Amino acid sequence: MSAPYPWLDAPWQRLLATRTRPAQALLLAGPRGVGKSELAQAWAQALLCEAPQPDGAACGQCPACHWFETGAHPDFRLVTLQEKTGKEDETRMATTIEVDQAREAVDFVQLSTYRAGFRVVLVDPADSLNLAAANALLKVLEEPPLNTVFVLVSDQPRRLLPTIRSRCTRLDIGLPPAEQAAAWLAGQGVDDAADLLALSGGTPLDAQRFAESGDLDERRSVLEGLARPDRLDPVTLGERWKAVSPQTWHNVAYKWLGDLLAVRLAGSVQFNRDFAEVLAGLGKKADLAKLLALARTQANEGRTLTHPLNRALQLEAWLAQYRHVFD
Ligand SMILES: [Zn+2]
Repeated sequence: MSAPYPWLDAPWQRLLATRTRPAQALLLAGPRGVGKSELAQAWAQALLCEAPQPDGAACGQCPACHWFETGAHPDFRLVTLQEKTGKEDETRMATTIEVDQAREAVDFVQLSTYRAGFRVVLVDPADSLNLAAANALLKVLEEPPLNTVFVLVSDQPRRLLPTIRSRCTRLDIGLPPAEQAAAWLAGQGVDDAADLLALSGGTPLDAQRFAESGDLDERRSVLEGLARPDRLDPVTLGERWKAVSPQTWHNVAYKWLGDLLAVRLAGSVQFNRDFAEVLAGLGKKADLAKLLALARTQANEGRTLTHPLNRALQLEAWLAQYRHVFD
């Protein structure tokens, strides 16, 4: 098996070189959307495979590989965010990994292994461990049982307990070179790969998700509205855009404001390259103090992305404030 994505080849080879004596606590750190989870899964499978290839990668054929791929390997545990059922039977994703999940993993590593090889616990995303869960894990990370490998995956390693970080061998995964990421996206059938990459902060998997979702059309329609503040009617647009999901709206508006600031302060667009000309013109006209105030409000709104009672009214107020930036 080769690396899950071409830009992961170097870290993948580094991991495989340790296949016979792997780090017992490994931290895979790096920005989101670069494939850390997939790398961690491939590494876990390589460790559990019972007929590894000469380079140490999993064979994909043996019983262990088969169990792993069906999520049934008895010596593997994934500790991750779980779905929760609320009071009104609605399901949502938990925002933290709870202590009982960590305790279950700790109990699991105290048992003897089912097969003769390694036992692997994958914690992903590790920065979601709550304090009690992190402390429960810390004990086994200090002295992992024989043949036990912990793999922690994190976009925000600084949010991990320092004591957990210090127990781990860290492998940093960076953003891929833009050309390599764009070539890969093009190979996946994504048009405008370079623009999409810029829009996704250089992360190819986010760019791919973006291309596959319906968000691109919504983004374009929103940006075409924002591009003409002089003609913008807050009431009409508030009504029209209330159907756009708060998440999409927030991302689109946040990056648009970010680009206006970037144009104003640094002279170049960071995210919305396809609107570079429009942004350059608007950036010059924008009142910096008003623009900063709006961008700050937008950043704060990102922390509480819920459906307000009257979405149209809220958008209307935002659009009126946006229009004033260019008065
Ligand atoms: Zn195998």
